[in-house]
Amino acid sequence: MAEHESLEFGKADFVLLDNVSLEEFLANLKLRFEKGRIYSYIGEVVVSVNPYRAMNIYGRDTIEQYKGRELYERPPHLFAIADAAYKAMKRRNKDTCIVISGESGAGKTEASKYIMQYIAAITNPSQRAEVERVKNMLLKSNCVLEAFGNAKTNRNDNSSRFGKYMDINFDFKGDPIGGHINNYLLEKVGRVVHAREEQRMQGDGLDLFFFPIHISRAGLNSHIKSSINDSADFKAVADAMKVIGFTTEEIHTVYKILATILHLGNLKFGNDGDVTLIENSKLVAVLGELLSTKEENVEKALLYRTVATGRDVIDKQHTDQEASYGRDALAKAIYERLFCWIVGRINDIIEVKNYDARIHGKNTVIGVLDIYGFEIFQNNSFEQFCINYCNEKLQQLFIQLVLKQEQEEYQREGIPWKHIDYFNNQIIVDLVELQHKGIFSVLDEACMNVGKVTDEMFLQALNSKLAKHAHYTSRKLSPTDKSLEFDRDFRIRHYAGDVVYSVLGFIDKNKDTLFQDFKRLLYNSSNPVLKAMWPEGKLSITEVTKRPLTAATLFKNSMISLVENLASKEPYYVRCIKPNDVKSPLLFEYERCKHQVEYLGLLENVRVRRAGFANRQTYPRFLQRYKMISEFTWPNHDLPSDREAVKRLLQGCGFEHDVAYGKTKVFIRTPRTIFSLEEQRAEM
Ligand code: ATP
Ligand code: MG
Repeated sequence: MAEHESLEFGKADFVLLDNVSLEEFLANLKLRFEKGRIYSYIGEVVVSVNPYRAMNIYGRDTIEQYKGRELYERPPHLFAIADAAYKAMKRRNKDTCIVISGESGAGKTEASKYIMQYIAAITNPSQRAEVERVKNMLLKSNCVLEAFGNAKTNRNDNSSRFGKYMDINFDFKGDPIGGHINNYLLEKVGRVVHAREEQRMQGDGLDLFFFPIHISRAGLNSHIKSSINDSADFKAVADAMKVIGFTTEEIHTVYKILATILHLGNLKFGNDGDVTLIENSKLVAVLGELLSTKEENVEKALLYRTVATGRDVIDKQHTDQEASYGRDALAKAIYERLFCWIVGRINDIIEVKNYDARIHGKNTVIGVLDIYGFEIFQNNSFEQFCINYCNEKLQQLFIQLVLKQEQEEYQREGIPWKHIDYFNNQIIVDLVELQHKGIFSVLDEACMNVGKVTDEMFLQALNSKLAKHAHYTSRKLSPTDKSLEFDRDFRIRHYAGDVVYSVLGFIDKNKDTLFQDFKRLLYNSSNPVLKAMWPEGKLSITEVTKRPLTAATLFKNSMISLVENLASKEPYYVRCIKPNDVKSPLLFEYERCKHQVEYLGLLENVRVRRAGFANRQTYPRFLQRYKMISEFTWPNHDLPSDREAVKRLLQGCGFEHDVAYGKTKVFIRTPRTIFSLEEQRAEM
């Protein structure tokens, strides 16, 4: 427990509250926020409130104060949790992960960057050049990924539109030797295709594919005004790409692809009787140039698709609607492919090379997860559905690791324990992901049907399967419900609140198809970088047989493996809270914060933690570490069991009141006791 702060700043650890009630929790959180104390603890969980102003607490001197110290020795800080994860990795050879959660705009990405900076700052004391190089790459990669994967939404000026899990690998000395990034579903619709005005800034009627990454605002789309210093950002990204090791050719290709996306947005189709036309056909030559391919090939791919009918292959002309659809799909696909390619290139460069565990010992990992937060827009679609499902999965992991397992262990070990209730959101996770019954399965089934399947048919299928589900309803099922405005609406009762989704576009987005003609067009580019992004363009229409996995299935699988991966590591949590909706450093909107504290399960977290024990170890392990402290156990004990020996040792130190003896483990309530044992051990 952090004790280095005076009470004028409130309680640094919520475990110390006099009464565990929502009111006291919030009063303490508010007081701390107003006094500029944005971090607090619940045991080892960091609770962070977005300050919406620059804080002078991340500098070199602060880093020095946290380096190597125990969590409870210093005021709460991200650095303390980063240090705890680092120590667990270094001292105990554990793979650890830091899971940062909270809604959009709560401060997750900023937190992840401070954590990475801290780890970079405390490692490599001997300044090995190779390690410095790796650190530099890891830090620079953030800048590039944000440029391409973040965008302004009405919730957050710099909202992550992709999920990111980054592993940092360490050698036996505890120095970073490489890393790996996993990226998750990029929300691409909002920025590449016409932005919905209520959601995005600057989308006001621009008849242009809207692409608000910093690069585009700076370099390609100068008539869009922005508060952000675009030319400086543009340069920073270009520099970062160079440092990371992108070649000049690659960087140029990236710019060309961005330009392609913008130009595609200006492309208009019309028709002249039976024939579909490109109205501003001058653009086609520009696209040909940018894509290093012939103008006529671009035109053909935009206006025709190749279809196989029995043995014949024919060119079928698009209607102007189909052509527009194809153009949008192309813009989105190019953008997504570019992003994945950038992540892949970064991975090539940062991955651990030439590491031989037999020589160097185990290579351990700290993972940092920064993913899109729970979000509710005016108009929610497939993307929000996936993002919110992801947040349900992470909440479930938190419940499993922090609330459930903890309590189950006390029961298993026979420690007297009164169960603490919490809302288990597994029911909502199931609603989305269960085989055959869940929403993703219903969606996939609808997409599998041959013939024309509409979004409305999908909604009907949902209604008939889920009519009785407590967390699902729709306009049809609840006709008098005012929040369900349109026939196409359905509503999910998420752990973090109700969200109304519009079913429009679900089928298309889930199929996520791109005409093979476009893939072939890009594969046949004479630009080798572009060509390499589209290997499947090699296939001709008669060779394309396999139905690709749907977007929902891919996303679900990636979430399941993410959660498995996190669960296999020792987890550390940062729970971020967004104090208001107006980005104000002064405003603590009570109801808003209360809602977040409730749905994040923070009060339950305090209760479990308060009733529980900070530390536990099996009896043999405990003895192995501390037996030198007591004459009864050093060098060996002659008591009937290890359990008895541990008891005798702890009695001797006067810690009886702070421990409980389970069947196989000793449980220690406060970290201070462990700290003191460590000190005595060191003095021996
Ligand atoms: P999303 O889910 O939309 O990606 P997020 O939780 O990642 O949201 P951030 O982008 O980290 O949110 O934070 C939003 C903004 O809040 C930042 O751009 C910054 O202005 C401010 N902010 C967050 N954390 C801090 C901090 N520790 N110090 C100062 N400002 C902060
Ligand atoms: Mg973010």
